[in-house]
Amino acid sequence: MAGETILLVDDDRTILQLCRDILEPAGYRTVWLEEGRSLPDTVSAVAPSLIVLDIMMPGTDGLSLCRQLRTGPRPFHGPIIVCSAKHYQADKQVASQVGANAYLEKPFSPTRLLSLVRDSLAREISVRLWGVRGSIPTASRETVGYGGNTPCVEARVSGIEDIFIWDGGTGLRELGRSLRQLGGGARGFLCFSHFHWDHIQGLPFFEPAYVAGNTFSLVGPAQPTADLLQILSGQMASVYFPVGLDQFGAQLTFQEISEGRFMLGGVEFDTLSSLHPGRALIYRLSHGAKRIVYATDNELPLGWKAAGGHATYEVERFLRFFEGADLLIHDAQYTPEELERRRGWGHSAWSDVLDIAVGAGVKRLILFHHDPDHSDSILDEIQEAVQRRLAALGATLECGLAREGDLLIV
Ligand SMILES: [Zn+2]
Ligand SMILES: [Zn+2]
Repeated sequence: MAGETILLVDDDRTILQLCRDILEPAGYRTVWLEEGRSLPDTVSAVAPSLIVLDIMMPGTDGLSLCRQLRTGPRPFHGPIIVCSAKHYQADKQVASQVGANAYLEKPFSPTRLLSLVRDSLAREISVRLWGVRGSIPTASRETVGYGGNTPCVEARVSGIEDIFIWDGGTGLRELGRSLRQLGGGARGFLCFSHFHWDHIQGLPFFEPAYVAGNTFSLVGPAQPTADLLQILSGQMASVYFPVGLDQFGAQLTFQEISEGRFMLGGVEFDTLSSLHPGRALIYRLSHGAKRIVYATDNELPLGWKAAGGHATYEVERFLRFFEGADLLIHDAQYTPEELERRRGWGHSAWSDVLDIAVGAGVKRLILFHHDPDHSDSILDEIQEAVQRRLAALGATLECGLAREGDLLIV
């Protein structure tokens, strides 16, 4: 949005003047800083919307400053674009790790700077559903409408080069093909909710993982029995698959996480344990004022609407975590009748999910992880039942069933 303040930090006055001459005619206000030591104080005083930060300045290291801005006592949550004449992949990776949203190589064109600034401030998130089916892929004519690939969701955040991927079900293969068609390198974070087959089986078929120069961080909940590398390479052991994980050409790092808050590629994530067999996590991505929650494989507790409307402890956790989400993607594998026969299997009925989303003030709900026995016609019937229930509740919540290939803009 024009009128926003951009803080430019560079020891080279020519670069500062160049940036100003590009950004101010486009309607942005610029503030200069020719050294890094007073950066935290200047950020507090100026409250910029975005910072362009040189990473090589005399006496200061821009990457350390970037980390300080993200983790200091008054963390800066806006976009940070780091710029440098160094074009090394390793530096770009470190920049991402310390919380930079984009890496601008010097020399740069006016168009490149302006488009990066505009994208970064747009704070738009696009979400593509590559796999929406639960438990096992389905390939029948009866399920082709909603799609048969198992969970994989891609999130792209404006102004951020990293791709964020939730789960590596068979939909991950389709995502890999789309990245190949786009060309260029690929880098990002592949975040697993847990490691049941339907969430990892696409990884051996993820083409970008075989390409040297690509970089991916594989992130997932720590397990008591094996580490992340053992779990993911286990499914590629020779008895199961002819190519081992050690044949991947991309640079991979592994990050085990638990409940909490952390930054990935300069974007804030929170996680919460889901109610599902084994250790599984729900993720919330926050960018500017936008919130997206990915909550697959979660069984909402029994009878939570009873007891005079007082939510149970578990439901309070979910209500707080989902509160005000712009988009909630939630497990809704069963109908209410099916749930009666499948309690304790770790999945929810669509009706309970709808009610909790309304209770949490969610703006848009996508029902996800469809049962492999649910044909397109059954899912169409559920969609109609969802609309009837929403009308009965008088809720303004927008709700639809996940459909493979759908693009959602938040
Ligand atoms: Zn699953
Ligand atoms: Zn599962």
